[in-house]
Amino acid sequence: MQKPNLTKAKKRTNEQSMIIDCFNREIEKIGQNKTYFIKTYGCQMNEHDTEKMQAILENLGFSEAKIMEEANLILLNTCSIRENANNKVFGMVGRLKKIKEANPNVILGLCGCMAQEEVVVEKILNTYPWLDLVFGTHNFSDLPKLLKTQMLNKEMLVEVYSKEGEIYEGLPVKRKYQHKAWVNIMYGCDKFCTYCIVPYTRGKQRSRLKKDILNEVNDLKNKGVLEITLLGQNVNAYGKDLKDDYAFIDLLTDIAKTNIPRIRFMTSHPWDFDENMIDVFKKYSNLTPHIHLPIQSGSDRILKLMGRNYTKEAYINLYQKLKTIPNMHISTDIIVGFPGESDLDFQETLAVVEKCQFDYAFTFIFSKRTGTPAAKMRDDVLFKTKQERLQTLNRAIEKYCLKSNQKFLNQIIPVLIDDVSEKDKQVLTGYSNTMKRVNLKGDKKLIGQIVPVKITEVKTWSLFGEVVERN
Ligand code: SF4
Repeated sequence: MQKPNLTKAKKRTNEQSMIIDCFNREIEKIGQNKTYFIKTYGCQMNEHDTEKMQAILENLGFSEAKIMEEANLILLNTCSIRENANNKVFGMVGRLKKIKEANPNVILGLCGCMAQEEVVVEKILNTYPWLDLVFGTHNFSDLPKLLKTQMLNKEMLVEVYSKEGEIYEGLPVKRKYQHKAWVNIMYGCDKFCTYCIVPYTRGKQRSRLKKDILNEVNDLKNKGVLEITLLGQNVNAYGKDLKDDYAFIDLLTDIAKTNIPRIRFMTSHPWDFDENMIDVFKKYSNLTPHIHLPIQSGSDRILKLMGRNYTKEAYINLYQKLKTIPNMHISTDIIVGFPGESDLDFQETLAVVEKCQFDYAFTFIFSKRTGTPAAKMRDDVLFKTKQERLQTLNRAIEKYCLKSNQKFLNQIIPVLIDDVSEKDKQVLTGYSNTMKRVNLKGDKKLIGQIVPVKITEVKTWSLFGEVVERN
């Protein structure tokens, strides 16, 4: 049994990350005539890890079950960014007990970020003995070996490594869409913002080599993919761990030159943002005019406690420069109720929202993550006060989100149609290049295409429109 260890997970050395070649690995068909179901929680990084695990399982002979209860293997790919994310997963683990009772042969696994937390693994061992397999973010590529061991021994297998981490090249991927794709450009994070568990769960910042990323992008382009999203916990730090001067701005330029129609990236930390990127954006129209730039707080005192390494003024300065890029839309993340946040601190956050008028924002109440420095900070803000602040903040965010959407009324904009809407099967749904969700009535044949759409109705969180006939 290998349990996680947060002290080891925090360690950083100067050693270059190892690249592990997973091309052409030998496969034993241990999943023949069996089915799997993966439930994914959290961010795009997790979604993309799931796409890789799906492909690994299908190479082993498993096929995907449509319904969780019918699968022979159920995996929960978890997120630990906030406590309520953990609680949701534990609720699901509780539900899995019934499935195990009905079918003792089912294999139940928990993986992803939560598995990297010491407290989570202890809780699993003490409270949820019906789980069969626990593995972390560093070893999902070993899924064939882990499954085989569990199938032979039929005992709970816990295999979680706490280390800086490697880079795996050549893992198969089962992409959700044919027309858009995620591309990891780096893994892990070395910023250690005081509230954040990610540097412990995902290891050190490690960048993929330029050649491997460009090969993947060119391959996607040749397969007809129209949109890629470059993924990293902090994409602007890309290359800082490599022994050359090739930085994110260079990578972005090279990817833009491939002429793939739409390029997105996330997430950006203002700390590493190279302002020369503004010129790159102005030069290449396939860089979509949207940047997610988390501010987290508008109070310099709180930003310092968070370890964010920028001031409110520096953020606003960068924000205003980015806004000189034509049609640029900027979204953000904001945490309220950080330990010790005073009313004055919160008012400063509101003032920044009023000044920047973000196109949209994800807002959260501070969530204490065991093992992080912020978890030990004195927190005398009442939860009720935090909830009131969140409501006040959300009202401001909604006002500016609606205002941002209203600009599009009666405009014709290009929309990449993703799918049929989950809420209404008569409606198609997709995104503008500015990352606005657009719903429309239309033929399913449009899925996977970029089409001109006239916006006829505007809501706070989405736009509604109709396809304009192309001549
Ligand atoms: S930069 Fe992002 S991922 Fe890294 S520690 Fe800060 S909040 Fe977490």
